[in-house]
This record gives sequence, C-alpha cells and structure tokens, in this order.
Amino acid sequence: STIPEVTLNNGIRMPQLGFGVYKVPEEETQEVVTAALEAGYRSIDTAALYRNEEGTGRAVAASGIPRDELFVTTKLWNTDHGYDTALRAFDTSLAKLGLEYVDLYLIHWPLPARDLYVETWRALERILSEGRARAVGVSNFQPEHLRRLTEETGTVPAVNQIELHPRLPQRELRETDAELGIVTEAWSPLGRGNGVLEEASVTSIAQKHGRTPAQVVLRWHLQLGNVVIPKSVTPSRIRENLGVTGFELDDGDMAALAELETGTRVGPHPDTLN
Ligand code: NAD
Repeated sequence: STIPEVTLNNGIRMPQLGFGVYKVPEEETQEVVTAALEAGYRSIDTAALYRNEEGTGRAVAASGIPRDELFVTTKLWNTDHGYDTALRAFDTSLAKLGLEYVDLYLIHWPLPARDLYVETWRALERILSEGRARAVGVSNFQPEHLRRLTEETGTVPAVNQIELHPRLPQRELRETDAELGIVTEAWSPLGRGNGVLEEASVTSIAQKHGRTPAQVVLRWHLQLGNVVIPKSVTPSRIRENLGVTGFELDDGDMAALAELETGTRVGPHPDTLN
C-alpha cells in the first residue's frame, strides 16, 4: 500500500503515516524499527527522551534504504530549553542517530512557566538554516504558544505534534494549526489503550469495511488531514497499522466516531507540564 504524503509549509513532503517508538527499549529498537521499515514505513518518530535514537539510527543505517526516501523525526527534551543548550542537544541527537540531518526536529513541550520556548525556537531556526533539519516544528503547543512563536520570530512551525485521538479530537487546536499553515500530527493516535479500539461503534464500522478497529481509527485521522505515528512492537500490528488505504469512512462513520469524544487525555496537559 502507498502511504499518502502531506506537504509542509516549507515545501518538504512528509509521509502521513509513520512509526512511533516511545517506550520501545533501546535494546529492542533496532529490531522493531527494522520490522517497521521492512513492512513499508518510511517515517520514524523518536525523541531524546525515548533513549532509543541510537537503535533507530542503526536500523536506518542497516536498512540500505536511500536516505532521501526516509523521514526521521526527533525532539528536544525539556531539560534542554535555551539557545545554546538546544544547539548542543541537537548535536547529541544527530550523533546518536548517526545522521547528517534529520527531516524534522521538534520542541517536545512548551513549558510555559519556564518561558524559554521562544529562545529555544531561535536555535531551531538556526539548525534549519544550516540544513541540519529539513523542517522544524513543535509538540504539545497550545494556540497562544503558536501565535507567540510566529509573531516574535516570523518562522511558522511546520508541524505541531499533539495528543489527538477520538476521545480528544482537538478541534480548536487543529483549526489554529490550519489557520497558521501548520500540519497537525497526532500522538497516541490509537488512544494508547484507552478503550477506543473496543468501542462498539468502532468495531461495527470496522466490520462494515472489513477492517480492524485500529485501521478505522487511523483512517479517521487521515480523513481529518492529521499525520499519524502509531506505535507497536508486534510485527502483525506493525503491518496492520499500514492498512489504512483502499477504503473510505462515510459521513455517518465520521459522525459516529465524533461521538467518542470525552476530552480525556492519556498524557499531561501542556499548560501545566513544566
Ligand atoms: P498509540 O496510540 O500509538 O498506542 C500504542 C499502543 O496501542 C501499543 O502499545 C499497543 O498496545 C496498541 N496497539 C498498537 N497497534 C495496535 C493494533 N493494530 N491493534 C490493537 N492495539 C494496538 O500510543 P503511543 O505509543 O503513546 O503514541 C504513538 C507515538 O506518538 C509514540 O510512539 C511517540 O512516537 C509519539 N508520542 C509523542 C508524544 C509527545 O509528547 N510528543 C507523547 C506520546 C507519544
């Protein structure tokens, strides 16, 4: 199956479906990422926090896939906010990945009470201008954080990676992203075991289309225009999560999935995490 792509605001193309490696232990990462690349994923989402950039980089190197066919994302962790610290953190991530550039570098959390994200963003602008990241963006940014970055620096993030699944559809934040020209990327797209996949409406829509609940939820994201990065360490599910094309959810399906909203998060709230 061919993975659709989105075009970021600087013209760079990004696969709309990638593979997330949060909580994959470093010693398993090379094997798991290799399985994902063999299954057909070309986009991998890691972070300094995950402590598996080295395993990710080894899988990329061993794959033999041309570098320009891959899309590697990593993120700056919370302890590395600040201009100089961010530049050093980026160097460390790049060295661990064993790459000459990443495709996307993200500020992992805004940490509004520390108020260093604008300064940190200036470091990402420099990394971008040096060609060491093909695109730069943010994660867990709220509308006011996005507006401040664009007003004070003039560089609009290419991507905002946020918690987003049928329980938390993030309508307002997706609208702000769209208004500013920012692609919304969904983390925990399957709701990370929060029961969405077992909902009667999801299983019946899945039956109707001859698909699995995970495929239906990922399809819902794609039809909303979100980039998704589901995670699994199970080879059959790694393959299953690629099966998101060749069918279409109708308006009734989309409406039924909209009813699953509860506003419940699986992760922290961006305004209060510091
Ligand atoms: P997810 O929604 O991708 O759920 C993953 C879990 O769902 C798996 O551990 C597995 O138990 C289950 N699962 C996966 N495929 C399945 C299938 N086909 N059928 C049934 N169950 C299945 O949650 P996640 O891992 O939290 O998020 C995905 C990625 O998002 C992470 O790996 C990471 O890359 C990223 N992420 C980013 C942030 C951030 O702050 N930026 C936070 C969390 C996660």
